[in-house]
Amino acid sequence: MKSKRVLTAVLDEQDGVSSGRCLSERAFPPCSEMLVHNIDMHYHAGRERPEGTTLDQFIQHARISGRRVVGLTDHLGKYNGDNAEGTSYKPTMEGFGQYRRDMERVQKNFPDLRLFLAPEIGPWGRPRDLCRTLKDLSDFFICEAAFPSHTSISKNTKELVEKIRETREIMELTGKPAYIAHPFRSAINLRLIKYDLEPWVTESNHKGKENFLPEELNKFFLLDIERVGRAAAEMNVPLEVNGNTQFRIRSSNLPAPLQMVWSAFKTLKICGCELVPGSDQHGFTVGVGRIGGAVPADCFDFLGITASDMPLVRRLLMQRGDNIIRTA
Ligand SMILES: [Zn+2]
Repeated sequence: MKSKRVLTAVLDEQDGVSSGRCLSERAFPPCSEMLVHNIDMHYHAGRERPEGTTLDQFIQHARISGRRVVGLTDHLGKYNGDNAEGTSYKPTMEGFGQYRRDMERVQKNFPDLRLFLAPEIGPWGRPRDLCRTLKDLSDFFICEAAFPSHTSISKNTKELVEKIRETREIMELTGKPAYIAHPFRSAINLRLIKYDLEPWVTESNHKGKENFLPEELNKFFLLDIERVGRAAAEMNVPLEVNGNTQFRIRSSNLPAPLQMVWSAFKTLKICGCELVPGSDQHGFTVGVGRIGGAVPADCFDFLGITASDMPLVRRLLMQRGDNIIRTA
């Protein structure tokens, strides 16, 4: 309780800043002048906010943590009756509409940020089941894939390629962008988080190694990464470089898995995949104060991808009338 009180005080203090003072000198910059950590396309801030917090506070945190383009999200199950936990908005499509209206209200107070709204659609969400209201209220869509097997590379690959195809279908049905969330999260959960670490994982030591054999990566992530990369590139469906996944990897204390995930993304990039940055932050207060999630900007630096190299982000900004490069 104590930490909650302290946090509320901190947030109240910031509200003075969010009310409009000091904003005029910070115009919204073009992509060409942004850094990767300025772009976070996966920021849970609706019904997944802790009780008693406001969207204004979440956007203020986004702003002071360097974010300028923010994709607000929440799991779709929070609005379609699957998961009624949370109180910010009603657990229905009407609630998602309230989230949208709240976003548009807050956007006016933050002219130096760009806010977008996307539902995070679970693995079982089918494109043709998405209701008209959801499509109308969303700027883009975040799609999760299932990971059906703890042993079979071919089953997991088939599932992910099918999800890429469904995500393409969502793009065609709605005329809006969509991407695949955290393609390596389930494997990381399996290898590092939810079960005992196997000795071969603990003992992996790839100090300084940047390139891995495809078999090494496929074995670790239980996916045929090149096949996934080729499918995503062919169908023009971006994949996400997810901060929460990399946070989980760093939590293991093992350097090798982080090098492997960066190398896996390098394989996807070589295949021609578009990669999108997202922190997947659900809150920014755990115990000691302001601890949230991070956009994995260092991974993008490793990959040689800049804020200008993100077609999904460029498209969303251009639709809002923003310049991608400075024109005057
Ligand atoms: Zn998420």
